[in-house]
Amino acid sequence: SLSKLRMRIYEANREAARFFHATLLSQRGQSGLNYLRGRALSDRTIRHFGLGFADDDWNSLCNHLKNKGFSEYEIYSANLAFKRKNGNGIYDRFVNRVMFPIIDLRGNVIAFGGRIMTDEKPKYLNTSDTPVFKKSENLFSLNNAKSSGTRTLILCEGYMDVIALNQAGFTNAVATLGTALTNEQAVLMKRYADEVIICYDADGAGQKATARAIDILRNAGLPIKILTVPSGKDPDEFIRSKGDNGPAAFKLLIEKCGNDIEYRLMKLKENYNLNTTDGKVAFLNEAVKIVATIESPIERDVFASKLCAELEIDKNAFLEQISKVKRRDR
Ligand code: ATP
Ligand code: MN
Ligand code: MN
Ligand code: MN
Repeated sequence: SLSKLRMRIYEANREAARFFHATLLSQRGQSGLNYLRGRALSDRTIRHFGLGFADDDWNSLCNHLKNKGFSEYEIYSANLAFKRKNGNGIYDRFVNRVMFPIIDLRGNVIAFGGRIMTDEKPKYLNTSDTPVFKKSENLFSLNNAKSSGTRTLILCEGYMDVIALNQAGFTNAVATLGTALTNEQAVLMKRYADEVIICYDADGAGQKATARAIDILRNAGLPIKILTVPSGKDPDEFIRSKGDNGPAAFKLLIEKCGNDIEYRLMKLKENYNLNTTDGKVAFLNEAVKIVATIESPIERDVFASKLCAELEIDKNAFLEQISKVKRRDR
């Protein structure tokens, strides 16, 4: 039955996680352990996240699980193996990769992410959806974040960002699993958070994903802040580049980061030359639309005052324009 199969998949995943972790700490896992240490992870962090290594033998996990009594059907259903194209049998899905187990809120191992240690593609290989795993409905490390003692979540792009932040003391970090943020994930976050700090990569892709995440989190009714690291390409690189000051510097960034309105106004500003009259007018016409979306009259007024002072324009004109936009949208 399906529930029997689901149970067997949980068991196979747990055994696989154990096997990958034991391999990492054995002779066969040396390159993996060196890789993780090279990325500044401590042995404690490696243990805490149960990180592992899939060696470069195409049968080692399958053989291990078969010896433990799992059938080929169960191993394949857990997405831990591929089926051979010509003929019978299965072979390991994860080969020569550093392994990140994905653990749900009940402590079950539900999936894995695996990183290749070279420039080969794909960089990350993840478990596809299985009877126990839907990647659009889970978040990496939410099990840790849930008990972090805060109701703020830091939403990152990648496993390494979350792990580096955890090691630096920010245990409220989570990440999507190689896909864009979904409504389901936003609803899930809302159960554990009153506020989400989006901390995606500083590159173009990360900033594009930020704009989409803002819409999804807003729709879910979650207050948002946006933190973009000023150096390094993602939180992991930022924390590392600052050495011992990484955690303190990141803490400051958290304290200083603004909400989605500030972020959108800042991004908008990049597209206009505010030294010209035309640029100023064009910018303000768009800025008004953003400010008009603010529900709270007080917050709206704060942004209006700030913008008007900055661009040296009459606030009454700005407020009148907001009223126009709001009337039109009604
Ligand atoms: P690293 O620091 O190890 O290079 P990263 O997390 O910075 O990894 P990104 O390229 O920024 O890597 O990707 C962010 C996240 O997106 C990854 O952690 C992973 O979950 C997912 N991802 C990246 N590449 C792939 C891929 N080829 N297939 C599936 N998911 C991927
Ligand atoms: Mn990226
Ligand atoms: Mn990275
Ligand atoms: Mn990244």
